[in-house]
Amino acid sequence: MPVEFDVIVAGAGAAGMTAALTTARSGLSTVVLEKAAVFGGSAARSGAGIWVPANDVLLAAGVPDSFAKADTYMAAVVGPEVPAARRRAFLTAGPQAIAFLQRWTPLRFRWMEGYSDYYPELPGGMPAGRSIEPDALDANILGDEMRNLNPSYIPSPDGTVVYTVDYRWLALIARHPRGLAVAGEMVLRYLQLAAQGQKPVTMGQALAGGLRAGLLAADVPVRLSTPLVDLFVEGGRVAGVIALVGNRETLIRARRGVMIGSGGFEHNERMRKQFQREPIGVDWTVGAASNTGDGIEAGERAGAGLALMDDAWWGPMIPLPEGPYFCLSERTLPGTIFVDGTGKRFVNEAAPYSDVVHVMYDGDHFPAWMITDQEYRNRYLFKETAPLLPYPQAWYDSGALVKDWTLAGLAAKIGVPAGALRATVDRFNAQARAGRDTDFHRGDSAYDAYFADPTNRPSPCLAPIWLPPFHAFKIVPGDLGTKGGLVTDARSRVLTAGGEPIPGLYAAGNASAAVMGRSYAGAGSTLGPAMTFGYVAGKDLASNS
Ligand SMILES: Cc1cc2nc3c(=O)[nH]c(=O)nc-3n(C[C@H](O)[C@H](O)[C@H](O)COP(=O)(O)OP(=O)(O)OC[C@H]3O[C@@H](n4cnc5c(N)ncnc54)[C@H](O)[C@@H]3O)c2cc1C
Repeated sequence: MPVEFDVIVAGAGAAGMTAALTTARSGLSTVVLEKAAVFGGSAARSGAGIWVPANDVLLAAGVPDSFAKADTYMAAVVGPEVPAARRRAFLTAGPQAIAFLQRWTPLRFRWMEGYSDYYPELPGGMPAGRSIEPDALDANILGDEMRNLNPSYIPSPDGTVVYTVDYRWLALIARHPRGLAVAGEMVLRYLQLAAQGQKPVTMGQALAGGLRAGLLAADVPVRLSTPLVDLFVEGGRVAGVIALVGNRETLIRARRGVMIGSGGFEHNERMRKQFQREPIGVDWTVGAASNTGDGIEAGERAGAGLALMDDAWWGPMIPLPEGPYFCLSERTLPGTIFVDGTGKRFVNEAAPYSDVVHVMYDGDHFPAWMITDQEYRNRYLFKETAPLLPYPQAWYDSGALVKDWTLAGLAAKIGVPAGALRATVDRFNAQARAGRDTDFHRGDSAYDAYFADPTNRPSPCLAPIWLPPFHAFKIVPGDLGTKGGLVTDARSRVLTAGGEPIPGLYAAGNASAAVMGRSYAGAGSTLGPAMTFGYVAGKDLASNS
């Protein structure tokens, strides 16, 4: 391998591949060093929702979005920890990044129609949503390289083409005609594309595959199993990296600079314990296993400031034996409540996932359980378990799921006071029958209704829990990855703790402190900024000689 390039990118995920494509298409010699034996990181595992307001795809679909509207919304959603200049850089460059990717990769995007912003009632918020996701990608375009793509978190069933927006309806397959119609469409789409000789992939597989195809076309080498070990600093600037090539630490020089796109530290037990609140560990994250904060630590050694390290892209998780399950529709469909060890509710169960976990930590609501009944089981898809069918025995065996024919029996089995649980359920049931959750306002926001049941009355979000047997799912604070990291500016330059740019050093994605601050504006709030700031870094590297 050559030992000098214009640009070195660490990490072949969303941020890194976008940055590398940008520098390569600006004429700079670029290499991507990837630690894992596969490319794609968490991006490949993801649902690939992308939150980039007012991009061309949205405007062409007739979504009434604009920079001004999105700016107002972000100002309301994102706290003061994120400078306005950085927020606006994201909103300015985001649509450019999407246009760039549609020009230089096979990726095409589609509006996730109806997938509400997470705070649609705030000024500038959009109840019909402003997120996009990739269209189906023909994996043939990657040839043999497809074998090196990190697998998805939840693979689509064989013989289907599934988009993220389909899940809302699939959950309702036994309840709403659209559920069955969408299931049929998934098969039909597959048959149509397969008849043309295509191997369609969607969601994160399409996103990471499409970015990699762009790099292939631009002749950018992606070196797998080649981790960044440290930054090489010379004359006060980052002038390269030390990487493990084969088994040897090797200096690779970068004439223009280094872009860190090596993801978060979700799988680094030591960092999680150092920076985050208990209970914490590496067992409840669904992020890519290779994301252990290497780039963040290397940047810190080079003098970078860190921010938001205590936070993450949290989500309530069920610790199933096959791995942590990021429950989304399962949590927000009617007929569920969360209780803590006191047997009392503590949160709007349908709130955005990050918020639910913030509430868990802030109020020390551990342990926590999701209580449901047989009516809920009869009505809705749960992960891959179809309505009416029993939950897998392994879930019971592992302790993640507990069942009993009475609420008192369930309470005894999960160790919460039976009287308190009974009182909580009675109170919730009365509110559900009245259609109004006056305690936690579940159903007040249009967002709460996205993964709900429009056939349920009087509220699509609330149903009583009454039909035995009752179930309790263990709920733990999981995440999609961490969101704290290197402090960067509006040009993706890494800053020292004193706010000075470190010459030659850039970062984007979960290796950098999130432009979303402690919040989550809408579906795709991690990938949208990761790709945008990867693009911004690439442009800046190309403009500075
Ligand atoms: C199941 C799941 C669903 C998700 N759904 C969504 C969604 O719909 N929308 C959304 O916005 N976000 C979603 N996310 C989150 C999103 O995927 C991540 O936040 C995003 O991929 C972060 O981008 P990144 O480029 O920073 O990191 P990644 O995409 O994780 O890429 C980081 C890469 O760096 C590599 N790396 C690590 N250390 C080194 C090193 N020392 N040297 C070289 N390379 C290194 C890793 O192996 C990895 O390939 C989801 C995540 C998961 C797991």
